[in-house]
Amino acid sequence: MSCPNCRSQVLNTWLYCPKCGTPTPLASGRSTSDPSLTLPSASQISPERILDRLDVGVLLITPRGRIGQINAAARVLFKIPANLNLLGKPCTEFISHEACMTIIKRHLADGIQPTLHTEDEDTQKPDEISIKDEKDQELVYHVYATPLLDDAHAPVGTIYLFQDITDLHNAAQRKAEYVSIVAHELRTPLTPMKGFVRTLLDDEKEEWYDAPTRREFYTIIDENVDRLRRLVNNLLGVSRVEELGPDGIEMNWEFNVGIRKVAEEVLETQRGRTDKHTFVLDFEPEDIEIEADREKLQNILQYFVSNAIKYSPDGGEVRIIARLKPADAEIPCDSVSIGVRDQGMGIPPAFLKKVGKKFERADNAGTRKAGGTGIGLYLTKYLIAAHHGIMTVESEVGKGSTFWVRVPLKQPEPKILEMAQ
Ligand code: ADP
Repeated sequence: MSCPNCRSQVLNTWLYCPKCGTPTPLASGRSTSDPSLTLPSASQISPERILDRLDVGVLLITPRGRIGQINAAARVLFKIPANLNLLGKPCTEFISHEACMTIIKRHLADGIQPTLHTEDEDTQKPDEISIKDEKDQELVYHVYATPLLDDAHAPVGTIYLFQDITDLHNAAQRKAEYVSIVAHELRTPLTPMKGFVRTLLDDEKEEWYDAPTRREFYTIIDENVDRLRRLVNNLLGVSRVEELGPDGIEMNWEFNVGIRKVAEEVLETQRGRTDKHTFVLDFEPEDIEIEADREKLQNILQYFVSNAIKYSPDGGEVRIIARLKPADAEIPCDSVSIGVRDQGMGIPPAFLKKVGKKFERADNAGTRKAGGTGIGLYLTKYLIAAHHGIMTVESEVGKGSTFWVRVPLKQPEPKILEMAQ
């Protein structure tokens, strides 16, 4: 059909002409009592109402420094009650935020260069301010300013837009932190390696150090090469799981992996790292066989035991516990829970929900001293997911932590898996 006003072509399902906005015969034929079919005319909605619906803060300041307009988001930002009439009042009386007032005063004094709609965004960057919200959390805003001119091009004021960029800002900050953590972790093993290699090279004629001492130096170099290799492997592991997820992990399934033997092998490699800890195997029944990728199961326990040692610097008991579990909502078949319990510093409750997230480390002196990248448990979670299992943590600050992995005794049939997905 065609528009009764401008004769443009209009689809016969349309209520309004897309060109001139005139109601089509379809619109006039419909009952206006159906609210979904009526569009309010622009004059029925006040500009204030539209502005109040925006998430960005909007503020208009006149050339004499008075408030010409302020929306609900900007009121929240500057903690101004919703019912307080501000229009025409000096902004200095209501906006106490120092950095924001500095920007406004600068514009009032110098005039402004718009930060919106500029051709070269790089040279016209918005100002950045941080404001505490009512929960005392620091929020970061970009402040865009643009002049408002009337029909005769005379300045009416400056419009400020306040855009919350807290998430972006935090992400950028954390990226910088990750880089410095990883750089630090890479450098740590390099320092002794360089030092001992230099010492051995300097002792060209092998006069200064006897054979056992030289062997000790080589062992230190060897351990640090291993540490470096582990770190690089972990970083590569992160990019692999990010790209492919748990399904991308290649699994070498074995039907009867005895977890007691796996635990013993893990303790074998970890014992040499400490003389402050005692190790206990607490299995009920004595041995449990499961379908698993032996090497990856070993990796999971290596991460747990290595952390148990690292985060209990004063020593204590490290206990590996294994118990059978019946089917339940979390794992709908028989399973085994394997826990690694330490008596170390524990994990603050606020950090518990972040455990296993990429690059997350508890922010306390103990963790900082222990060093680390916050990627071990992130990778562990993927290895556990590849076994269709779950990871849980129990912890009390100052008493210790238990990291649990619970995996099915037998892996679900691919068919059942597909149906579940
Ligand atoms: P890393 O140890 O390299 O920092 P992880 O991913 O293994 O990385 O651990 C992440 C964070 O979890 C650690 O930085 C630490 O804050 C906390 N954490 C892990 N294991 C323990 C533990 N057994 N006791 C206390 N905190 C732990």
